Amino acid sequence: MNILVLGSGGREHTFAYKLANSKKCDQLYVAPGNAGTSRLAENLSLNPKNFEEVKQTVLQKDIQMVVVGPEDPLVEGIYDFFRDDKELQNVKLIGPSKRGALLEGSKERAKEFMAMHNIPTAAYESFKAESLEAGKKFLETLKPPYVLKADGLAAGKGVLILNDLAEAKQELENMLSNQKFGAASETVVIEEFLDGIELSVFVLTDGKNYLTLPTAKDYKRIGEGDTGLNTGGMGAISPVPFADQEFMQKVEERIIKPTVNGLQKEEIDYKGFIFIGLIKVDGDPYVIEYNVRMGDPETEVVLPRLKNDLVEVFEKLAEQKLDEIKLEIDERAAATIMAVSGGYPEAYEKGKEITGYNTIEDSMVFHAGTKEENGKVVTSGGRVIAITSFGKDFNEALKKSYQNIEKLHFDKMYYRKDLGKDLN
Ligand code: ATP
Repeated sequence: MNILVLGSGGREHTFAYKLANSKKCDQLYVAPGNAGTSRLAENLSLNPKNFEEVKQTVLQKDIQMVVVGPEDPLVEGIYDFFRDDKELQNVKLIGPSKRGALLEGSKERAKEFMAMHNIPTAAYESFKAESLEAGKKFLETLKPPYVLKADGLAAGKGVLILNDLAEAKQELENMLSNQKFGAASETVVIEEFLDGIELSVFVLTDGKNYLTLPTAKDYKRIGEGDTGLNTGGMGAISPVPFADQEFMQKVEERIIKPTVNGLQKEEIDYKGFIFIGLIKVDGDPYVIEYNVRMGDPETEVVLPRLKNDLVEVFEKLAEQKLDEIKLEIDERAAATIMAVSGGYPEAYEKGKEITGYNTIEDSMVFHAGTKEENGKVVTSGGRVIAITSFGKDFNEALKKSYQNIEKLHFDKMYYRKDLGKDLN
């Protein structure tokens, strides 16, 4: 079949890598893609948020499956657009409906969903501009640090964690009354701070059945020792060593099952990934957030460990027959390290020539912010290339990625050299 992947990051390159390896994949397209995806697929220049444009391409190229990488098209309802269009009835779109995507699109909705289905999460209340004073009073009842979350999508920047009460009150006002994050902060969720260690769990559900994919842990901050500004992710490992069997059993019973049952009870059309951001506190799991797609760079360590034919898995997902799939997971650990542009996540330069990536043989090279220009591959984003390796454990996998990232070059390239040190 012909397959289209929407998106342009390392996540989408990894999807393309897995899909291209399937015997069921005839022609693969990625839109808009990057220099890496162009080696495996045909890149198409179209905007994933322009559903009419996506539709015309799907019809023209006889595409039967669409895999949606990023959250925006999902939150804006691409699944519903495909489901409700007669000409697209036979196209399998991998992703949740708009109602399902609200679990990521609205933090207030996610908290209500968790409360409704008894899923463990931090205590919270939500506020709008008219309840600003009540919000400040609520802050007074909490202990620092204070966690303020813009309700809507804010490109990973909408969460503030503050130690000082006066500052928290001021930021609450900035969010609610001064549109700090635009419409995304018209509602703010204030929640209890949970002190623990974070990890992510990935679930694939057809709304009825589910499969639990390998766990991963990502490294969010730009600086070593997890300091400095937040990024899209500087690397990841899978599996997570502290997610032992006992803990994962709690995750399954207390979080995954009630989440999938909750979707079913609320009759939410959901045929896609649920990325559950968890925090382990005194041995127990709590949900920090839901995302309705895979993570980046977590995809770069989770999907390479999946031995199944991904097209087959997605076909069964779309047919609500996920119970017919038995996951086969590579026993080895995987680790990925992200090479980023100097200056990122603040201002950085683009258009730097990238060399050496094609000399790397025993690691996987996933492009993120790259493009081809005059026959050269150049940087086109903050996060540029992820190097993924396997090993008997995460230390060995990281070691190989660190050896191979040395072969990669571009002006002002930066990567963190301390990944995994916190786990040893
Ligand atoms: P992301 O960039 O991960 O998508 P986001 O903007 O959707 O982030 P959250 O994941 O809800 O927001 O929060 C961002 C980070 O803030 C979390 O990864 C976690 O480190 C921290 N955080 C959020 N909520 C809490 C909490 N209740 N207690 C402690 N830390 C928290």
